[in-house]
Amino acid sequence: MGSLKNITVLGTGVLGLQIAYQTAYKGFPVVAYDINDEVIEKAKARALDLATTYKEQVPGAADGLADAALDRITFSSDLADAVKDADLVIEAIPENIDIKKDTYTKLGALAPEKTIFATNSSTLLPSDLMEFTGRPDKFLALHFANKVWVFNAAEIMGTEKTDLAAFQAVSAFAGEIGMVPIEIKKEKAGYVLNSLLVPLLNAASDLLTDGIAEPEMIDKTWRIGTGAPFGPFQMFDVIGLTTAYNVSSVGGPKQQAFAAYIKENYIDKGKLGLSTGEGFYSYPTK
Ligand code: NAD
Repeated sequence: MGSLKNITVLGTGVLGLQIAYQTAYKGFPVVAYDINDEVIEKAKARALDLATTYKEQVPGAADGLADAALDRITFSSDLADAVKDADLVIEAIPENIDIKKDTYTKLGALAPEKTIFATNSSTLLPSDLMEFTGRPDKFLALHFANKVWVFNAAEIMGTEKTDLAAFQAVSAFAGEIGMVPIEIKKEKAGYVLNSLLVPLLNAASDLLTDGIAEPEMIDKTWRIGTGAPFGPFQMFDVIGLTTAYNVSSVGGPKQQAFAAYIKENYIDKGKLGLSTGEGFYSYPTK
């Protein structure tokens, strides 16, 4: 184990719980913090579900490892207590700048001086938040992808003020919890992955709303032409059509046309993508 041993994750939502569980799965003691006991109780139940998923999908997890991970997670709704021993705090709270600013202001005052803070924010730059942390030298982004046990790349991105030692320690930690660390040299909205993915998805949605081709044909073209396993509309189904709608509806006119299209044809019919068994494609239920 490297220099970061005690890990606290803020937020037990979709990503926070996955990050906490994966970290515990790899042998680290983890404190998972959320705002109140009601949310914590739900998170505990979801952690059991996650253990079941690991047993089904991660080789070796069923031989006691998935259950042992549960024992290494402590849940807390007391921020001061949750961070008092933390070497690293990974923040995965809602993507709302006011909530994040408020949380970093409190966290900066409560956490020990040694603690490094990492944000999992997908759309905010760490420099948007660094002044609220009170320790910009020990603050950076550590960005995971949904389903961390499958899509195991973690993007590490500092600001101009991030210490190299903190950057390197977080990169090493990412490797220790089974992620492939993607070290980003300069701040960039969208990191590497979304800088590649978003233009592809936008181009695909334009082809559809401009009436150029149907989703199946667009996906087939991409798969055959590049050898990629999935086309962009298959990716939309994985991302979830609600997220696709939320992002597109605040974009330019073409993106808004796509938002209207997916709302009318899918969301209003309860077809939200892979999670509901139907989106652009149908998926067999378990
Ligand atoms: P989510 O809405 O599922 O979970 C957010 C959690 O934070 C909830 O449990 C909520 O109770 C808790 N919370 C609310 N206010 C809080 C506070 N003040 N302090 C601590 N916890 C608080 O969100 P999510 O999808 O897990 O996203 C969290 C972060 O991860 C966001 O910054 C998002 O950009 C990023 N992210 C999400 C995904 C994804 O696919 N969902 C992927 C990569 C990164």
